[in-house]
Amino acid sequence: MEFAAFADRAAEIEAESADLEIVDLVTDLFLTAGDDLATVARFVQGRVFPAHDSTTLDIGPSLCYAAIARAAGRNVSAEDVEDRVAETGEIGAVAASYGFGGQQGLGAFGGDGEGGADPLTVGEVDARLRELAAAAGEGSQDRKLDVLFGLFNRCDPDEARYLARIVLSEMRIGVGEGTVRDAVAGAFDVPVEAVERALQVTNDYGLVAEIARDEGESGLAAQHLEVGRPVQAMLAQAGSVTDALEDWDAAAVETKFDGARVQVHYDGETVWLFSRNMEDVTDALPELVTFVEESLTVPAILDGEAVAVDDDGNPQPFQEILKRFRRKHDVAKAREEVAVELDAFDCLHADGEDLLDAPLTERHDRLVSVLDAGIAELRVTDDPDEIADIETTALEAGHEGIMLKDPDSTYSPGRRGRNWLKRKPDVETLDLVVTGAEWGEGRRAELLGTFEVSVRTDDGYATVGNVATGITDEELADLTDLLDAHVRAEDGKTVDIDPTVVFEVGYEEIQPSPTYDSGWALRFPRFVGVRDDKEPADADALDRLERLAAEQ
Ligand code: AMP
Repeated sequence: MEFAAFADRAAEIEAESADLEIVDLVTDLFLTAGDDLATVARFVQGRVFPAHDSTTLDIGPSLCYAAIARAAGRNVSAEDVEDRVAETGEIGAVAASYGFGGQQGLGAFGGDGEGGADPLTVGEVDARLRELAAAAGEGSQDRKLDVLFGLFNRCDPDEARYLARIVLSEMRIGVGEGTVRDAVAGAFDVPVEAVERALQVTNDYGLVAEIARDEGESGLAAQHLEVGRPVQAMLAQAGSVTDALEDWDAAAVETKFDGARVQVHYDGETVWLFSRNMEDVTDALPELVTFVEESLTVPAILDGEAVAVDDDGNPQPFQEILKRFRRKHDVAKAREEVAVELDAFDCLHADGEDLLDAPLTERHDRLVSVLDAGIAELRVTDDPDEIADIETTALEAGHEGIMLKDPDSTYSPGRRGRNWLKRKPDVETLDLVVTGAEWGEGRRAELLGTFEVSVRTDDGYATVGNVATGITDEELADLTDLLDAHVRAEDGKTVDIDPTVVFEVGYEEIQPSPTYDSGWALRFPRFVGVRDDKEPADADALDRLERLAAEQ
């Protein structure tokens, strides 16, 4: 396909604003792309490489301006081009505003003097841009400039417009991933779901377009995960324990690690590590490579979190791990400063078998069977107290919180669905007066364990719930010391306490309830801290509780 024909189509698409019309135009484009279909399917999104490929052209705006200036002629400097971009705000319009062509000299005909007079083809542009991406080392910027100049020098205005945009990854003609997906389905008469699925496993619009055309639905269905080729990470939404237990029979609860997402690929010999954006970060994390080589027993694709740890293995803030991910040079030095560990929580592929469609619990079992260490613990429970305990333990250990997952859910790459919930932190807390407590059991018999909390009313206090979670052993001892002095009466394990101490209490919801004097109950109340600065008279009153309940 001639690049001019591609540019014409791109201009038509850009001029169209209706989504369906855009899909139709892209469909036509695909039907006429011939041998260049794969490249066209990428170019139309402003991509040269597939989404799973970390290769970049590595051409900054200034190199692009310099190439345009050179193709525009003697009187134009890179600064002039930059000024025009500043005025119009758009590189494509600026590239189209110069009359190119006819500049002689090194690289005038595509960088090597070949084929200069012929019209540019999509294939040739693609080949040249790949050549550019591969240029490295001394003199590579000059070589890139030569090649780019050679291309611009042969462009008419529309070609220049879209070449410049592809080069700077700023296509912006209104073609998103969904458009390409729908156009592939429409052009080659295959179900959208089949295209979507093949895209999920391959992350290559070019490949999927070709397979849809040449092999149809069965070809798409035959696409599998490939070790070494990253997939998009499954994403989470914010949600509550209430959401999880209402929607599912039980929740799979895991620690939410405060690090950076990492996808581990291992073919039995080579290890690849990819970031959340599918960037290859293998070289930055040599200790994870070694860890995987030593601990993973079969070829596999795992999902997990890379966490920075101190000498004792305690998690460090997430900024620390980013320092490691971004590091390209002096990796050994960075490694001395920040050590990294893997917490794996999913298994997408093991020993030749794709597991995306297997339920989470099965994938987790598989993870346990193929990895010797570094596995995030997963507990399936429908007991809110147990979930709260897991959360307390996770927070105490310095982690971010917990994830709640549907135990039966499949792995959907790139989706931010309701199957994975990151538990929302409590939004508003209440300051409540402690009016009673209960002695603990067993190991905790000497400690007060459950605390009855109340709101202020016009003539005293009214209970709203019992707080038993979110409290560490150490805090329990302190609270027992603090409250013991105020015990008014004891009846077996239950004690009445003079209203003196104020707790800050988090919760998920306020519900009407006949159980407590206030007529309300807190759903999943948890201890946040003692409000040393508050007297019972400063605690929250019933009317605030009622207002918060009404606002939910
Ligand atoms: P957020 O970045 O706040 O949207 O939270 C989602 C991120 O939490 C994921 O992309 C992971 O990087 C991270 N994460 C930490 N622990 C887990 C876990 N157990 N399961 C899934 N994601 C996790």
